[in-house]
Amino acid sequence: MERSVDVLIVGAGPTGLFAAYYAGFRGLSMAVVDSLPETGGQVTAMYPEKMIYDVGGFPAVRGRDLIKGLVEQAAPWEPGYLLGRKAEHLRDGPDGLDVLLDGGDVVHAGAVLITAGIGEFTPRPLPAGDGWLGRGMVHFVPSLDVHAGQDVVVVGGGDSAFDWVLALEPIASSVTLVHRRAKFRAAESIVREARQRGIRMITDAEVTEMRAGADGALCEVLVTPKGTEEPAVLPAQTVVAALGFTADLGPIENWGLEIDRRAINVDSTMATARRRVYAAGDVAAYPGKVKLIATGFGEAATAVNNIAVALNPEAHLFPGHSSNAE
Ligand SMILES: Cc1cc2nc3c(=O)[nH]c(=O)nc-3n(C[C@H](O)[C@H](O)[C@H](O)COP(=O)(O)OP(=O)(O)OC[C@H]3O[C@@H](n4cnc5c(N)ncnc54)[C@H](O)[C@@H]3O)c2cc1C
Repeated sequence: MERSVDVLIVGAGPTGLFAAYYAGFRGLSMAVVDSLPETGGQVTAMYPEKMIYDVGGFPAVRGRDLIKGLVEQAAPWEPGYLLGRKAEHLRDGPDGLDVLLDGGDVVHAGAVLITAGIGEFTPRPLPAGDGWLGRGMVHFVPSLDVHAGQDVVVVGGGDSAFDWVLALEPIASSVTLVHRRAKFRAAESIVREARQRGIRMITDAEVTEMRAGADGALCEVLVTPKGTEEPAVLPAQTVVAALGFTADLGPIENWGLEIDRRAINVDSTMATARRRVYAAGDVAAYPGKVKLIATGFGEAATAVNNIAVALNPEAHLFPGHSSNAE
C-alpha cells in the first residue's frame, strides 16, 4: 500500500489525536500511525478508567472519555488511521518524506509530526501465557463490556492491575488478583479500595499454567503459591496480564534526529533537526519541558500551524479562531 498525505502523524496518543484535529482545521490531509491496536497512547494502554483532573475545560474526565472526545473532534477530517502499524524508517522522498511502515507499506508525506510519547510499548510477558495472547489472555482492556459475566484473573501488583480489578469487579462474575510478591506497587488508596470491596487477592503466588476446555477456549488457570507445588485451580475465561510495559523509541532513534534521554530536541516551532520533521507531546524536548497532556495539546497546535506554513509559505501562521469557523 502507498498513500500520500500532507502530514503523517506518528503516534495516536492524546497529542497525535489533537494534532489530527488541528491538521484538518488547517486544511491539511493527514494519516495517523500507531503500533498499538487502539488510539489513546498511554491513556488507553495504562489508565483508561482513571479520572484525569488537569485537562483544561474538564474538571474531571475519565481517560477513555477524553480519548473518545479527541477521536470525535478529529473525525470530521477523516484521519486515515493506520493502527497496529509501526513507523520504521524515514527517508527523503520525491515530494517530501517517505515513512516506511512494518510490512513494507509507504506513506509519502509533506511533513512528519512525531508524537510518539515514551515510544513503542511492549507488554512484559507472562511466562505461563506464552501462546495465549488473543485466546483468553490480554495485556489491556480497551472495552470492559466484553468481560461482563466472565471469571477474570488479573496478574500484577501495580496501578494498572488494580485499575482493571476495580473496573471489572462490578460486571464480571468473579475477579481475582494474583501477584507474585506480598507487597503491591500500586497506590495505597486503590489497594485499600480493592480490600474494602472484598476482592480476592492471592499474593506470593504465580500463574503457572493456563488450560483450555474441550472447545479450545481458556477455562481455568493454575495459581501456585511460592515454595509449594500445590496449585489452586481458578475458573477463568480471561487473564489480564498487567505486568507493565517497557517503552522504547526503537526505530525513531535512527531517523537522524537529535535525541537526548529518549526525547527529541525541538525548537520553539516544534521543528526537529531534520527538515519538515516536527515533534510534540511527551517525546519532544526543550528547556523547561513539562510532560503533560495539556502541554502536548499546545505543542500539537504549534507544530501543525508551523507545518502549514512550511508546506505553503503563503499560509498564515495564526490559523484564525476556530470559533469563527463554519
Ligand atoms: C498512570 C499514568 C497516569 C497519568 N496521569 C496523567 C494526568 O493525570 N494528567 C496528565 O496530564 N498526564 C498524565 N499522564 C501522562 C500522560 O498520559 C502523557 O503525558 C500523555 O499520554 C502523552 O501523550 P502523547 O500523545 O505525547 O504520547 P503517548 O500517550 O505516549 O502516545 C504515543 C503513541 O505513539 C505510539 N508510537 C511510538 N512509537 C511509534 C512508532 N515507531 N510507530 C507507531 N507508533 C508509535 C505509541 O504506541 C503510543 O500509542 C499519566 C501517565 C500515566 C502512565
